[in-house]
Amino acid sequence: VDTADEIGDLAQTINTLAGRLERVEQERHHLEQVRNDFLANVSHELRTPLTAMQGFLEALQDGLVEEEEARQKYYAVMYSETLHITRLVDDLMDLMKLENNELALAKFPIDVGGVIDKVVLAFRPEAEEKGVEILVEMPEKLPKVYADKDRIAQIMKNLVKNAIKFTDEGTIRLSARSEAEWVEISVADSGVGISADDQERIWERFFKVDRGRSKKNKGTGLGLAIVKELVELHDGEVTLTSEPGKGSTFSVRLPAMDCERMIS
Ligand code: ADP
Repeated sequence: VDTADEIGDLAQTINTLAGRLERVEQERHHLEQVRNDFLANVSHELRTPLTAMQGFLEALQDGLVEEEEARQKYYAVMYSETLHITRLVDDLMDLMKLENNELALAKFPIDVGGVIDKVVLAFRPEAEEKGVEILVEMPEKLPKVYADKDRIAQIMKNLVKNAIKFTDEGTIRLSARSEAEWVEISVADSGVGISADDQERIWERFFKVDRGRSKKNKGTGLGLAIVKELVELHDGEVTLTSEPGKGSTFSVRLPAMDCERMIS
């Protein structure tokens, strides 16, 4: 009887181990898939601007572009393609550091109002060119947040850049307010909006809604993935509410600084 019990126990242990091995194998397979998708995406995003540049360079080299004006246009396009590649590489480096916990924040007590003002100043011309008005609503006094100013600016830039990109002749409202233990910053646009299904995937690396339409928008699909990671690194959270055809609102909540703790 003892031996039969032992054999039974052994069989059960083997079963459990086999199950575990299978799960490990599934996980390994999944990671490999993620890695392959990532490499395919990076290659695609690099290849697109490189192919365009090759075409233009060949035409210039073969002396096919005779008019000076056309030549200048070719140079301008090639220059903007190199900017796109640089942005892509910078974004990838940031994401890699974020995911490996290697991004060090230079945290100080900061006033988010100042950051918002600077971002608006930088983007207003681009918005006006598209007939998009930027409105800012802020209370006179806001608690400070303990944060990396440059990274908060990067978060805001990504959100405002998107708001402009996906809005034609409309309004973008930037607001900040204090709520319970948070400082909440919102970027609300009256643009194309995002469907419920896409709202779930929007934070994924390289995800773009309707690749065809986004093509002329020249995004990397990394902006919101970086926003999410950066906000979470500040112990905050970012949320989205949106309705297709009506617009989108991205809200970033950062922990407000406790004044007493600041003094001690
Ligand atoms: P990128 O803007 O570089 O493509 P993001 O990660 O910033 O990458 O955004 C991913 C996608 O989410 C965009 O391609 C777009 O389809 C959608 N999106 C982001 N912001 C908005 C917005 N304000 N309105 C509508 N769609 C948006």
